[in-house]
Amino acid sequence: MKTLVQDKPSLQVFEKLESEVRSYCRSFETVFAKAKNAKIWDVSGREFIDFFAGAGALNYGHNNDRLRGKVVDYMLADGVTHSLDMATAAKESFLLRFQETILKPRGLSYKVMFPGPTGTNAVESAMKIARKVTGRTGILCFTNAFHGMTLGSLSITGNSFKRMGAGVPLSQSVFMPYDGYFGEGVDTTAYIEKLLDDPGSGVDLPAAIILETVQGEGGLNVASKEWLRKVESLCRKRGILLIVDDIQMGCGRTGTFFSFDEAGLAPDIVCLSKSIGGLGLPMAITLIKPEFDTWAPGEHNGTFRGNNLAFIAAAEALHYWENEQLEQEIKRKAELIRVTLERLVKQHPELKGRLKGKGFIQGIAFDKPELADKLCSLAFAKGLIMETSGPRSEVAKLMPPLTIEFDVLEKGLSILTESMKELALTAGKEQ
Ligand SMILES: *Cc1c(COP(=O)(O)O)cnc(C)c1O
Repeated sequence: MKTLVQDKPSLQVFEKLESEVRSYCRSFETVFAKAKNAKIWDVSGREFIDFFAGAGALNYGHNNDRLRGKVVDYMLADGVTHSLDMATAAKESFLLRFQETILKPRGLSYKVMFPGPTGTNAVESAMKIARKVTGRTGILCFTNAFHGMTLGSLSITGNSFKRMGAGVPLSQSVFMPYDGYFGEGVDTTAYIEKLLDDPGSGVDLPAAIILETVQGEGGLNVASKEWLRKVESLCRKRGILLIVDDIQMGCGRTGTFFSFDEAGLAPDIVCLSKSIGGLGLPMAITLIKPEFDTWAPGEHNGTFRGNNLAFIAAAEALHYWENEQLEQEIKRKAELIRVTLERLVKQHPELKGRLKGKGFIQGIAFDKPELADKLCSLAFAKGLIMETSGPRSEVAKLMPPLTIEFDVLEKGLSILTESMKELALTAGKEQ
């Protein structure tokens, strides 16, 4: 057999055999083979720093020793890997640890549902249960929201390109302006309340309001604590369920385990996925307040709701949240990211960039959207992986693993700094 190792890895096989739908491999044109924490290598041995972290599925890094060790031991001991929703020792250990480490210290009480392996499964199940509990059908969602690619999740996702892919009308959702949509100083919750209470508004009382506390795919829009609390309270006053989609912002991305910890919310339903499985293994959970857990057995189902390898890695990953150490590390490193981005924006006023995001998901939004993609391409050529987000892909975003070593973070930021300089040179030439 011919070896794949060449000077410049070829994407021929993928171009020939894989569907046109593939996307990330078009931005990061190489063939990857190996990865450790915040570094990833291609088949020719080229090293990249990973500021993408599986879109938030790798908060604990690639091949985290602690998590991988547990999974390997479990497999070598012939532990059950697939179990539908049968009771297994691995699931039991996850449930207990989640209770002890995450829910109990926060005074939160939830039943844990395993809706299927991916984030969108958690969102679909959350909408189903909200509709079942309230007997209402509408879901109130927000501009620039992203909730997944299945029909229900797409119906509450803002991006028109993704929505068009559905091929059928998307219904039962009503979009409202997210915090900051009309700029600072406009409280969009006042608008929402007015519409909900006005019998002439045309807006029916919804079953639920679903939101992200920071819109990741939507362009790193951060909702304020006050806004979040107002949304929670307007839900309470009207018997609307509050669903927080913490699939990307949860598991520490914004600095705390739940992204709503600081705001002190107690959502009725919480969706988690991406990094809950620890090692990048597919896993999702839907947290439901006990009084709303009205499912009949098997009313929601799925073959892959018992990924025991993910349960093992997930249980081990929760050890990171037993003390303050990781949180403090995130804070320290997030500060370095913030200061660096602020400096870059200041040093290159001609690029018209603005700082966005918080914690371990920050980035630069450009007035000229195409600059974000150019910046990411320049960075990739220098060995740094980062992606764009936002409705016009106008934000170059950084989301390294939370466990990134300080010196690797510094190196990644210095590649970004070089890339900004180069961007300023090329963009200047084009003007
Ligand atoms: C990624 C994501 C989803 C969808 O998760 P999948 O695993 O891709 O189905 C839903 N909501 C948010 C906020 C996400 O970031």
